[in-house]
Amino acid sequence: MTIGVLALQGDFREHIEVLRRIGARPIEVRLPQHLAAVERLIIPGGESTTIGRLLNRYQLLEPIRARAGRDLAVWGTCAGAILLAREVLDQKQGGQPGIGVMDIRVRRNAFGSQLDSFEVPLVAPVFGEAPLPGVFIRAPQIVGVGRGVEVLAEVPNGGIAAARQGRLLATTFHPELTDDDRVHRYFMEL
Ligand code: GLN
Repeated sequence: MTIGVLALQGDFREHIEVLRRIGARPIEVRLPQHLAAVERLIIPGGESTTIGRLLNRYQLLEPIRARAGRDLAVWGTCAGAILLAREVLDQKQGGQPGIGVMDIRVRRNAFGSQLDSFEVPLVAPVFGEAPLPGVFIRAPQIVGVGRGVEVLAEVPNGGIAAARQGRLLATTFHPELTDDDRVHRYFMEL
């Protein structure tokens, strides 16, 4: 069961470290042949416009779209969640390339400059009784979900922080920056 971490831009190294810690053997995905070798893919946080452009340039967009949610489980954290979303609000760039396979609507940089980065405990029973440490960095907000999308965690002051649609998972926060590996373990089972 091979897991890949998209390694074009962003905090992919942190994801790789967590995966190694829990006994997985992740590979870095940069090219279509790397993607072809994996059954799970994490899209890290970073800059969604940059990652989207690079996905396009390295010809990864189409093969990810074709497999996502089917024989490829995909988890997007933060920028990765933006890339998974069918609908992105507040796009300054207008029409940034995305994967667009998950039935969620997200608002980029939803918390404004005052709350650029913050940490808040998230109640999320699917991951266990103890709250998850929610680390948010210029985070988007999931503002709407379609039927068939399960809300897994909400931010106390509004917005959805984690959602799942079959084998697609989106989190607006960064579990890879904490020592809590429950979301990574959950994704390995998806
Ligand atoms: N604000 C970034 C974006 O819009 C996401 C930030 C992050 O991934 N930590 O792509």
